[in-house]
Amino acid sequence: MSFQNPVFIPGPTNMPEAIRQACSMPTIDHRSPIFGNILHPCLDGVRKVLKSESAHIFIFPSTGTGGWETALSNTLNSGDTVLAARNGMFSHRWIDMCQRHGLDVQVVETPWGHGLPADEYAAILKADTNHKIKVVLATHNETATGVKSDIAAVRAALDAANHPAMLFVDGVSSIASMDFRFDAWGVDVAVTGSQKGFMLPAGLAIVGFSDKAMTASETATLPRAFFDIKDMQNGYDNNAFPYTPPVGLMNGLKHALDLLLDEGIDNVIARHTRIATGVRLAVAAWGLELCAASPDVYSDTVSAIKTPDGFNATDIVTHADQVYGVAFGVGLGDVAGKVFRIGHLGSLTDVMMLSGLATAEMCMADLGLNIKLGSGVAAAQEYYRANPAAIIKDA
Ligand code: PLP
Repeated sequence: MSFQNPVFIPGPTNMPEAIRQACSMPTIDHRSPIFGNILHPCLDGVRKVLKSESAHIFIFPSTGTGGWETALSNTLNSGDTVLAARNGMFSHRWIDMCQRHGLDVQVVETPWGHGLPADEYAAILKADTNHKIKVVLATHNETATGVKSDIAAVRAALDAANHPAMLFVDGVSSIASMDFRFDAWGVDVAVTGSQKGFMLPAGLAIVGFSDKAMTASETATLPRAFFDIKDMQNGYDNNAFPYTPPVGLMNGLKHALDLLLDEGIDNVIARHTRIATGVRLAVAAWGLELCAASPDVYSDTVSAIKTPDGFNATDIVTHADQVYGVAFGVGLGDVAGKVFRIGHLGSLTDVMMLSGLATAEMCMADLGLNIKLGSGVAAAQEYYRANPAAIIKDA
C-alpha cells in the first residue's frame, strides 16, 4: 500500500477526486452531438473565468507552450516586431519561441525577481511612432521567480502611446487562481494550460482571442496547421474538433469549471491570496526572503524562496522527495540552486498548506539550516485562524 501526499509544485496541481473521475469517463463517439455537451460548456466556462463577454475560446490538445505557439502563429507574419521583457524562465522561453518563428523581438532585459517594466514599455511604445511593434508580450505570473506583473499598467502604456499593438498575456500560472481580466485589461490573446488553476492533468492548451486578434488571424502568414484557429472554429461550428479531441480531459475541464464557478471566481482568487499570505508569513518567520523583489509583485500561486549563500536550494527538493515523499519545485535557469519553490495553487486548503510548510521546515532543519521547527507553521496558523476559510463541502 502506498499513500499519496499532496504536491506543492507550481503545477501540475493536486486534483480533486471528482475531477479525476470526470477525466476517466467511458469512450464516446466524439463526432456525435454528445461531444457538444462537453465542448460548449467548456468554451463558455473558460470565457467566464477570463472575465470576458466576447473572447473567442480555443482548446487544443497541447500544453501552455502550444498556447504560446497558437497566439503567435495565428496572428503574425515572419519578420514582425514583438516587444517583450525577459524576467524569468518562462518569459525567456516565449521570446525564444518568437525568435524561432522568425519574429524580431525587442527584448527588455529585466532582473529576475522584478515584474514587467511598464514604464520602459511605455517609453518604447511612445517612441515607436511608425507602429513597427505588432505585439506586446506579457508574462502575468513568472512561475520561475514567483513574480506577478501589472497587466493593467501594460495596457495603460499602450493606450498612453495610442499604440495599436496587440497585447498577448501568458496566464499559465495565474488564470483560474489570480485576478485576471481579459476585457478590462484589453487583452488580445490570453494563454493558459489545464494543469494549474484548472486542477487537471497537463494536456490542454487553453487560449482566448479578442476580435482584434481574430481579425489579425485572417491575414497572418506564419505557418500553422495543428494550431490553426480557423480549422478549430470550423470544427466547433459542427460540435467537433478538426481532429480527435481529448474527450476525457475536456470532460474534466467541464467539471473543473463547474467547481470554480460554483465557488465564485473572486472567491477562488481570495482563497489563493489567503493561502499565499500564510506561506509568505512562514517564509518571514524562517528568516528567509523571496526571490520576488517587493510585495507588489508577490505571486499568489507560487513562492520562490531564497536560501543562504553556499547552500544548494535543490537539496531541499531532493530531500523532501526522498525522505518525506513530498514534492516542491526546484529553481530554474538563473536561480537554479538558489531558490526552492512552493506551489500554492489549485485544489488546496489551509490544512494541506500547513503540512507543506511543516515538511519544508523538517527538510531545512535536517539539512542544517537554522530553522526552528514550527516557526513558519505557527505564523501561517495564526493568519489562517484570524482569517478562516469558507468551508466548501461539495465535490
Ligand atoms: N508559462 C508559464 C508562466 C508557465 O509556468 C509554464 C509552465 O510551467 C509555461 C508557460 C509552459 O507551459 P507548459 O509546460 O504547459 O507547456
